[in-house]
Amino acid sequence: MAPAKHGAFDLSSALDQRHAQQRYRQRATQQIACGREAVVDGKKYLNFCSNDYLGLANHPDVAAAFAQASADFGVGSGASHLVCGHSHYHHQLEEQLADFCQTERALLFSTGYMANFGIITALLDKQDAVFEDRLNHASLIDGGLASGARFRRYLHADASSLQEQLKISTARRKLVVTDGIFSMDGDVAPLKDLMSLCEKHDAWLMVDDAHGFGVVGEQGRGVASLVTPAERPQIIVGTLGKAFGTFGAFVAGSEALIETLIQFSRSYIYTTALPPAVAAASLKSLEILRAADDRREHLRQLVSKFREGAQQIGLQLMPSESPIQPIVIGGDGDALALSHSLKDSGFLISAIRPPTVPEGSARLRVTLSAAHSLADVDALLVALSRAHAAKK
Ligand SMILES: *Cc1c(COP(=O)(O)O)cnc(C)c1O
Repeated sequence: MAPAKHGAFDLSSALDQRHAQQRYRQRATQQIACGREAVVDGKKYLNFCSNDYLGLANHPDVAAAFAQASADFGVGSGASHLVCGHSHYHHQLEEQLADFCQTERALLFSTGYMANFGIITALLDKQDAVFEDRLNHASLIDGGLASGARFRRYLHADASSLQEQLKISTARRKLVVTDGIFSMDGDVAPLKDLMSLCEKHDAWLMVDDAHGFGVVGEQGRGVASLVTPAERPQIIVGTLGKAFGTFGAFVAGSEALIETLIQFSRSYIYTTALPPAVAAASLKSLEILRAADDRREHLRQLVSKFREGAQQIGLQLMPSESPIQPIVIGGDGDALALSHSLKDSGFLISAIRPPTVPEGSARLRVTLSAAHSLADVDALLVALSRAHAAKK
């Protein structure tokens, strides 16, 4: 039957518009495991767009831990955590994550999106206010909006903009929410300043460090470990799908915070627990990640090599020392064209366009991984230099 062309469900006009804006999203079907290389449509590429910063997604010991646990424990957890889905693998992972984060407790969520959504909506309602960095991840924004709290966005990484808003707030609870390392820009939130404002205005700080864990801090303990214990945020979120190379997410904090989430967080309560084997794989990956100073050091070398080379070519870099190294292009069509031209030269780097990033700031989001070699970065720089010269 032909789809209806008119009426409220005329979906094609929005799709056509997205095409016309050069914002249409397409999925590349991956034919080999996530790593240094990718194969798409039978063609091989160097992969510079995954979040597998330490190269653990296809680590043989992580895969073996997953295989062993699924042989022992099957695949499905069978139920939510509160019914009968909470296995000893989940429990041990929570204990190890609390130790890693140096907090009283940690709690697993099935995804980072669900963690952020479920934390903010459990803690806030319409008597409250949430203050978010304007470049926060979509899951933090969505949780803030859904909570019913008064919703404020402050200028990116700008403590004085936040202060103006905190000063005049009369809300019951005030929650300040920020990415740790910003997912599309790669820079670090000014935690010290944010925390001191929170203290002054009786607010709490929540940091989503999806991109910091494994990468920064001693043992990869993330951005919260870079400040003194007194300056640490009350709520720390991490995801397991990035540097950990597995899947899922966690929140770390006080006993009272974790118990509150177990009782009241709807995206924790009303969903099936992660497969136990995923928790077992994450336990192994956490062990490797904590000891992976060699990988972190190699990654730092890749980042500085990339930055030096890119500056020599005259590319516009952002103030980022993390493995996220965006090249801002501006126009959506231009970013897309550059991504396609790099693909023709054998490099997989996706063009990130609005609404993922602000209007006029479409970019190539280059990400580096410890799985890359220095020669891989050299090869990327040669390709970028050719593409940049061709554009002029
Ligand atoms: C990836 C990401 C998330 C979502 O985590 P998932 O486990 O993929 O749902 C949340 N916050 C930030 C900053 C992220 O980059």
